[in-house]
Amino acid sequence: MRKLVIFDMDGTIYLGKDLIPGAKEAFEQLNKDNVEYVFFTNNSSHDLDFYYEKIKNFGIKCDRNKNFYSSTEVAISYLKKQGLKRLFVIGNKSLKDKLSKDFELISKYEENAKIDGVLAGFSTELVYQELRDACLFLETRDIPFIATNGDYRCPIEGGLYIPDCGGMIEWIRLATNKKARVMGKPDPEVIYTLARMFNVDLNDVVVVGDRIYTDILVGVNAGVTSVMVLSGETKMEDLEKYSYRPTYIINSIKELPELLKKI
Ligand SMILES: [Mg+2]
Repeated sequence: MRKLVIFDMDGTIYLGKDLIPGAKEAFEQLNKDNVEYVFFTNNSSHDLDFYYEKIKNFGIKCDRNKNFYSSTEVAISYLKKQGLKRLFVIGNKSLKDKLSKDFELISKYEENAKIDGVLAGFSTELVYQELRDACLFLETRDIPFIATNGDYRCPIEGGLYIPDCGGMIEWIRLATNKKARVMGKPDPEVIYTLARMFNVDLNDVVVVGDRIYTDILVGVNAGVTSVMVLSGETKMEDLEKYSYRPTYIINSIKELPELLKKI
């Protein structure tokens, strides 16, 4: 049976610049076992080349065009499907560059500006003016508010965290009473899209990650097998705070090839 494994990266394969011990060997085994895998990130602050370089430099076999996806791709596909053309975007330059190929980007709030929607992505280049203009557009128009992800924090090296997109969209919601439609994990569309692209049945999809309210919940929402690793954000004692559970729990990615043989 052909399996597709959807991997989270931060906290699952590496922590900041450090590879999780045993990860390289685990991928060598997955390749021997002919397991298909993709790397999926909710983080829209870097483009996918950044992740490709990072994973490749760890010595893990990967293909830039085939193995890397982010919530940005899911959001773009949704925006296109909805026929939205003119957007106000909060996000890093790399996100704006990518979007400018398919959409007209409105750079600032103007009373008479024609606009179809507001898109928010994780931005490490955030300035107050962007939040202000996004709020003004949402306050004065009945247009969709879309976000690439709802994570509150993003892990970095040394066990530390920096604020992520979830807080930004919450900030806008508090000011405008408009709630973002969040496109990344835990939206099951992520899983459905990847399963379709790889022509794999949902029964053969396994999602692996360290964060229960995104990585595990996306698996629960899509009805696929989920594997939680304890190498990142979520610890065993955190599980009792949630009403849902991963299908399997392992200490780290090192244990994944053995587990996959059994399921
Ligand atoms: Mg993670």
